[in-house]
Amino acid sequence: MIEINGVTKSYGDFDVLKNCTTKVDRGEIVVVCGPSGSGKSTLIKCINGLEPFEKGSIRVHGIEVGDPKTDLTELRAQVGMVFQNFELFPHLTVIENIKLAQKIVLGRSEGAANTKAMQLLDRVGLVDQAKKFPGQLSGGQQQRVAIARALAMDPVAMLFDEPTSALDPEMISEVLDVMTDLAKDGMTMIVVTHEMGFARRVSTRVVFIDQGEIVEDRPSEDFFSGNHNPRTAAFLSKIL
Ligand code: ATP
Ligand code: MG
Repeated sequence: MIEINGVTKSYGDFDVLKNCTTKVDRGEIVVVCGPSGSGKSTLIKCINGLEPFEKGSIRVHGIEVGDPKTDLTELRAQVGMVFQNFELFPHLTVIENIKLAQKIVLGRSEGAANTKAMQLLDRVGLVDQAKKFPGQLSGGQQQRVAIARALAMDPVAMLFDEPTSALDPEMISEVLDVMTDLAKDGMTMIVVTHEMGFARRVSTRVVFIDQGEIVEDRPSEDFFSGNHNPRTAAFLSKIL
C-alpha cells in the first residue's frame, strides 16, 4: 500500500531524513514516534507530496510520489491528512468544509457531496454541528470535522500528524475513539503520536525515528514487550 524506500531529505547540509525505509500494508495501523525535531512530520509530508525529497522513492497505492508527472492533487485525495491544528477553512461552515474538495477535486454534485458529508458527520458524532463555523466548535470537535473532511475523499490511507497534541486532555479520547473506529473498519493509517496507550491498543506496528533515522520498526506486541535500542529506551523513559 505505502512503500518508502531509502528516502533521504536535507535542508542544506542538515539531513532531516536519512535513508528511511519502511512499508505499510493495507489495513495496517503504524504509529510513528520519536523526539521533537526527529523528522516525523517531514516523513509524513513526503508521503503525500507536501515535501519533496532528494533520494529514494515513495509509492502509495501504485502512485510514484517523487515522479514529477504525478498528479499531487489526485495523490492527496487518495491519502487523507489530518494535522495537529485541524487546518479547517475558518470562513466555511462545518458542512461546507467537508463538501468543498468533494465538489472541486472529485466533481461530485452538491447533493452527493452533501449526503456524504452528513454520513461522515454522523460517523464522527457531529450531525448537529453542521451549520456552525469551526471557530464555534471545541478543539476535539474541530479535529473530528477534519477527519470527516479527509474521509469524504474516500482515501485509501490516512495520515495523522499528532492529531491530539493541541487538545485539552478531556478532548483527546473523543478523537482517539474516532480513529480507533476507523482502524477497526480496516483503514490503512500512519499516526504520528505520543499517545502510547493508543499505540498499544490500536497499532499493528511502531516506528521509532531519531535524528532522521528509523531506529526501530517492529510489530506492536514486540515493541511493547521491551528490549529497546538505547535511543528508543531514552525517549520512552521521558514520555511514559
Ligand atoms: P515535532 O515532534 O516537534 O513535531 P518532528 O519530528 O515532526 O518534530 P520535523 O518537523 O519533521 O520534526 O522536523 C525535522 C527537522 O527538520 C527539525 O530539526 C526541523 O528544525 C527541521 N526543519 C523542518 N522544516 C524545515 C525547513 N523548512 N528548513 C530547515 N529545517 C527544517
Ligand atoms: Mg512534527
